[in-house]
Amino acid sequence: TRPTECPPDSEKLGRSTWTFLHTAAAYYPVNPTPQHRRSMLSLLQSLPILYPCNYCAEHLGGEMQKNPPDVSGRAQLSKWLCDVHNEVNDRLGKDKFDCSRVIERWKDGPADGSCD
Ligand code: FAD
Repeated sequence: TRPTECPPDSEKLGRSTWTFLHTAAAYYPVNPTPQHRRSMLSLLQSLPILYPCNYCAEHLGGEMQKNPPDVSGRAQLSKWLCDVHNEVNDRLGKDKFDCSRVIERWKDGPADGSCD
């Protein structure tokens, strides 16, 4: 039998990965325990090694050296990730995202209730 869907290309993989990462950041504790911090740092630091798009992983590693992850709390992590994603957006010629709206985009939805 043939698979019903094709394997992801780097765009589809990217969309799925950003969805996971931004959502994980939006639900990350406001006051993380040392265990939370260690686990998140370990997850993020694994990406330049394990992310299955070589040029993306390589670039991310360089960015993370210049701008290390801030896992000190939900707002800080969400902002860090938004900045990293914006750097990729910029490089790909895409619009920058307004980082004051990450919690609305990835956790609460718009105030008009249209996502409830
Ligand atoms: P995506 O960029 O996938 O974004 C998905 C949704 O996130 C958007 O619709 C928007 O609602 C929201 N969003 C957009 N920007 C932000 C932000 N700053 N903060 C919060 N939410 C936001 N592709 C390459 O071609 N070259 C690369 O080097 C590359 N590196 C990547 C590195 C990583 C770690 C990841 C996860 C992906 C990378 N990609 C790369 C893929 C690329 O970023 C996109 O995912 C892909 O091009 C699909 O783009 P898209 O326009 O569908 O939206």
